[in-house]
Amino acid sequence: MTIRTVVWGENIHEHTNAVVGGLYPQGMHTTIADALSRHPDISASTATLQEPEHGLSQARLDETDVLLWWGHKDHGAVSDAVVERVAKRVYEGMGLIVLHSGHFAKVFKRLMGTPCALKWREAGERERIWTVNPGHPIAAGIPEQFVLENEEMYGEFFSVPEPLETVFISWFAGGEVFRSGLTWRRGAGNIFYFRPGHETYPTYHNPTIQQVLINAVRWAHNPQAALKNVEDAPNVPVEQALEPITERGPKLHAAGEAGYR
Ligand code: ZN
Repeated sequence: MTIRTVVWGENIHEHTNAVVGGLYPQGMHTTIADALSRHPDISASTATLQEPEHGLSQARLDETDVLLWWGHKDHGAVSDAVVERVAKRVYEGMGLIVLHSGHFAKVFKRLMGTPCALKWREAGERERIWTVNPGHPIAAGIPEQFVLENEEMYGEFFSVPEPLETVFISWFAGGEVFRSGLTWRRGAGNIFYFRPGHETYPTYHNPTIQQVLINAVRWAHNPQAALKNVEDAPNVPVEQALEPITERGPKLHAAGEAGYR
């Protein structure tokens, strides 16, 4: 059994910017999927914004264990129906890895429930990434610190909910710091946000970055069966209470009535 992984790419800058197209001729999503697929426990394919249903039909998502998401220029073009579909699959147990400018992706904001805003500066500055949770599975084989010579700066405050775990923190040459590798759990789904990956730099060709993504896919994979009843809200009849009870006091709802949504 391999971890069925889909790398979703917005796939715009690769076709509109010569630098990005030169670094990633087949798209960033393909570079990432190829790096993941070199490991026999992962089978990675790609999906893009331009495909019908953005390549994320219900049938495909039902067969996806982990979804990676890179978007930037046109988050608003992602249909709300697909966003809801992805969020529900996360609740059911699909892993979600959100990359770089995906912090503003609709589905990430939907699952975080906060603005997910941050400071930024595009100056090709040095980023030093510190592994601050060295025992974490996502940090396996990753050094105590490593450098990306050219990256976009992201700075705090990053307005996300307090994470479950902080795996990486970045320092930038201009002085800012940023929580670069954060985890959350939503329903049965594991979520990892990983900061590096500005499209005009060769970040996704970096072997250490690729190792983080491989580790993250393995960590995010929930091998249990999908938690299909995650949205159910049953009104349990009095006579089905586990211990016998007598109904008493005033009530609003009729027996058997569905709750309000
Ligand atoms: Zn960027």
